Amino acid sequence: MHQARKRFGQNFLHDEGIIHAIVSLIGPSSDAAILEIGPGLGALTKPLLANLESLDLLEIDRDLVAYWRKQQLPGLTITEGDALNFDFLAWARAKKSSGSKQIKVVGNLPYNISSPLLFHLVGAATEIDEQVFMLQAEVVERMVAEAGSSEYSRLSVMLQARYHLEKLLDVPPEAFDPQPKVNSAVVRMIPRSNFNTSPEEWRALEKVVAAAFAQRRKMLRTNLQDYLGRLQLQEDELTKRAQDISVGRYLEWASVLAASA
Ligand code: SAM
Repeated sequence: MHQARKRFGQNFLHDEGIIHAIVSLIGPSSDAAILEIGPGLGALTKPLLANLESLDLLEIDRDLVAYWRKQQLPGLTITEGDALNFDFLAWARAKKSSGSKQIKVVGNLPYNISSPLLFHLVGAATEIDEQVFMLQAEVVERMVAEAGSSEYSRLSVMLQARYHLEKLLDVPPEAFDPQPKVNSAVVRMIPRSNFNTSPEEWRALEKVVAAAFAQRRKMLRTNLQDYLGRLQLQEDELTKRAQDISVGRYLEWASVLAASA
């Protein structure tokens, strides 16, 4: 019997109703290539595979990797590794060139690495069609928060600049074993097809958003001090706070900064 490992964020799903709901939200179809991050003991893996010819797994826990290799289930490919270092771009390109029409990355993610993993995946967004993830509910709330709300943060701006985000489902701690201390939620992330931010603009966006949110309660006049010479902030923007600025406006600033670098 596998002992759940805290350091790998192992909370295994066991509620059949929730598992069924998540699998239908992922929507496994035979022309899709799907990579599941952190299959654990297979709560999602087995029902997904039942609807697919093949499924790729990425798992850090070598005991779980051995568990999956031993089963030799037809169609399963398992890679042992850390999702934070995994080359999602190369994986997606390989799947596309072998004829997959849709590329999806899914999983009930280990909560301790969710933000860095989401940022790591941005680098592969040109090749990935859809991501469906279960995360800590509080993180999902921040991801989807709109400008003006108290949850609106650096994570909201950066991810909304790159993806359409939709919160799909709330999941209570009782759905897991062992139970986490927090609520969970499922989110869908679809890369924006009209995304035309250059790498220079993206780097400028990262910098200006980090600076704006560095001290949440301070006005932009203070937080963006170093940028005021280059950014044409409107008079009323100087006294606003980072959380009041729309994603579109941050993108405008990023392109001004990239052009003047
Ligand atoms: N999918 C299973 C379920 O829903 O019951 C397990 C989910 S559990 C929350 C997270 C899984 O991710 C575990 O299997 C854990 O070993 C794996 N994991 C943790 N850190 C990881 C990492 N950095 N890279 C890949 N897998 C990781």
